Amino acid sequence: MSSPMDMLPRVGLGWDRHALVAGETCTLAGVVLDSPVGPSGHSDADVILHALTDALLGAGGLDDLGTLFPDTDPQWKSASSDRFVTAALTLLAEVGLRVISADMVVICDRPKLAPHRATMRANLAKLLELPIDRVNLKGKTAEGGGGDAAQAIEVQAIVMLKGVPRAGDCS
Ligand code: MG
Repeated sequence: MSSPMDMLPRVGLGWDRHALVAGETCTLAGVVLDSPVGPSGHSDADVILHALTDALLGAGGLDDLGTLFPDTDPQWKSASSDRFVTAALTLLAEVGLRVISADMVVICDRPKLAPHRATMRANLAKLLELPIDRVNLKGKTAEGGGGDAAQAIEVQAIVMLKGVPRAGDCS
């Protein structure tokens, strides 16, 4: 049963960080970048989609990425991380929630994100089934003050959800 409060918007925050390793495929926001370094990890290590998934799950009051898709589970080895985003959207729909906007900050000294930003943003919008102006992504360097920013890539993601009536809800 839904209450009027279920229709109020909800905000979710996600964060992730992976080491950058020479020779790893660099998949960011579902886009494979031509880069000599890439994030290391159990799945495809798409740090942007991991932070986004945790933001979605967090806003929905659901278990986090590591609980739902543990890196000890062989089925997620080298998994394409868009599966995590899609699964999170399905779980949200089941509890009557839909994402309405998303914004992300990617902090790294390399690879350079600017040439790929539009492609990554478009892919995120497609994945979230949102218009492009509801999804954004900014690349930031640590400008020498980030310690190991050249050896790691870090992402902060924030999303907003809204409640949607489910089948069987009284209107
Ligand atoms: Mg991760």
